[in-house]
Amino acid sequence: MSAVYRVDLDALARNLARVREAVAPAAPMLVVKDDAYAHGLEPIVRRAVAEGVRWIGAFDVATGAAVRRIAGPDVRIFVWLIGGRDDLAAGVAVDLDLGIGDEALLADLAGLPVEHPARVHLKIDTGLHRNGIRPERWEAALAQTSALVADGHAAFEGIWSHISEASDADDDDARAVFLAARETARAAGLDPRFSHLAASAAGFARGEFREDLVRVGAFSYGIRPAGGPSEGELGIEPIGQLSATVTAVDLAGVHLDIGALHGLPSTLAGRFDVLTPEGPRRVEAIGPTDTVLAPWADAAPGDEIALFGPGALFGVTDLAELVDTIGEEIALRISPTVPRVYVSAHA
Ligand SMILES: *Cc1c(COP(=O)(O)O)cnc(C)c1O
Repeated sequence: MSAVYRVDLDALARNLARVREAVAPAAPMLVVKDDAYAHGLEPIVRRAVAEGVRWIGAFDVATGAAVRRIAGPDVRIFVWLIGGRDDLAAGVAVDLDLGIGDEALLADLAGLPVEHPARVHLKIDTGLHRNGIRPERWEAALAQTSALVADGHAAFEGIWSHISEASDADDDDARAVFLAARETARAAGLDPRFSHLAASAAGFARGEFREDLVRVGAFSYGIRPAGGPSEGELGIEPIGQLSATVTAVDLAGVHLDIGALHGLPSTLAGRFDVLTPEGPRRVEAIGPTDTVLAPWADAAPGDEIALFGPGALFGVTDLAELVDTIGEEIALRISPTVPRVYVSAHA
């Protein structure tokens, strides 16, 4: 026995259908960074492709290449962390859609041998300053891109940006910068096939942010925003359940085979309850490899207890709110040493 992270692929499929409906007529791009938000890249990509997902957001080139191997040639794979010339060449070789927010990468692209046109999505910095081409450099980057299109190095596929989704007013300002940048591009003869700037929250809540593609991570996995609408209001459901097994019962309480080293934050000790056969019991202590619950009469080694997710009293965002973070932080901490187990009625 050991702690397990159980992932319900049928619930994933239902979330993907809900996401598709919510962002229509835009197409959803399933974001799979951080090992598909810790749910495991390969099973998530396989099921998503079987459910008709045609865009996957992979973050970095190595993950993009892995997604290409899993998903085959027909899926569009967008990456936005490109670590220089060799990485760029690797991305072009497996036909990734390249999110380029740095003029140096355009220069690198010009230096590569032309095999087939690289799919370029230019990123305008709309205020987050993470990366992206600053508005004052936009025309220069467009000129560089036009030259790359003219000599066969690039196909101009898209314009994109990332917004904070923390305040509507900031997002509106970012969108204004985005739309102006697109007008400038069109005037320069570069008309993007795909415009994209929203992630889960704005994609669901704000129709004018949907454009052609919405990059959806959190909501696909059923992770609701901290301080925001409930899963029920969003029409999504959590797909991952962390559970552990009773190893011993003693005067201290009921011991489970999970702890902080498995990714359960020790700051949560004393702050949440789990469901036992005799009702809710408090999680009283979280050590490195051992968690102690308040006792119940018939507790016995081998009993399985869900800590969060379906069948538990708390979800990742409920736990996150107790310690002032976001649900993704709780999900991403689950150690790779905790086995992922996939469940599906279709398997
Ligand atoms: C992580 C990420 C997303 C997905 O955000 P969610 O809020 O999880 O939907 C979209 N776009 C970019 C650029 C990202 O880094």
